Amino acid sequence: MLLAMAAIAFAATAQQVICHRGYWNIEGSAQNSLRALVKADSIGAWGSEFDVWMTADGTLVVNHDESYGGVVIETAKWKQLKKMRLKNGEPLPTLDKMLDCGKKLTTKLIVEMKPHASKEHEREAARKIVKMVKDKGLEKRVEYITFSYAGMKNLKQMAPEGTPVYYLNGELSPAQLAQLGMAGIDYNIKVMRDHPEWIDEAHSLGMKVNVWTVNSDRDMEWCINYGVDFITTNAPERLQQLLAQ
Ligand code: MG
Repeated sequence: MLLAMAAIAFAATAQQVICHRGYWNIEGSAQNSLRALVKADSIGAWGSEFDVWMTADGTLVVNHDESYGGVVIETAKWKQLKKMRLKNGEPLPTLDKMLDCGKKLTTKLIVEMKPHASKEHEREAARKIVKMVKDKGLEKRVEYITFSYAGMKNLKQMAPEGTPVYYLNGELSPAQLAQLGMAGIDYNIKVMRDHPEWIDEAHSLGMKVNVWTVNSDRDMEWCINYGVDFITTNAPERLQQLLAQ
């Protein structure tokens, strides 16, 4: 009983806020922009997430969709993309620029490697991402997430021992991911509502639970009450308010 109460008390204070694609839905910001990363840091968010693709000629580009301005990133040359601008006027960021920006901040950098059509290309993307993070001395500040099954295994293998890698796709149980050495599950709120038992299962395996994209008060309260570890949201300041209550 005492242990259970201690566990609940711990859970009630343990949630960490992760800004989904940075803190973007405010004046002057944009999804996956340097500004959004700076804004996430400025409100004291535990982490800030962004998405990474690799061009055909090996430039790592920060963007959510597979294409930007009608150009498919994976099969494009960087010169086709480098003059493009985000909604807030910033140039389309490279991972290089994003990590340099993050280096001056303290928020964790949650790097999502997108599933590339070519698994060979994706493997090379994983290798380059891990190397760039190492070269910039950011290994302790970065966690990896991906929808790609092959990608999570590559990231796990290539990143230094102990680097957290989370799987996003939602079909594997914590026990299955534990066997692959993953740090935990990072699943959609709908998946978690269907599988609330995965929260305790993950915790009993020493794994963490991250849930996305948690934007409504109702979903935020569900995550808080169930004691998930990380909540990824487009409304980080609202979540901070609820967590402070
Ligand atoms: Mg993402």
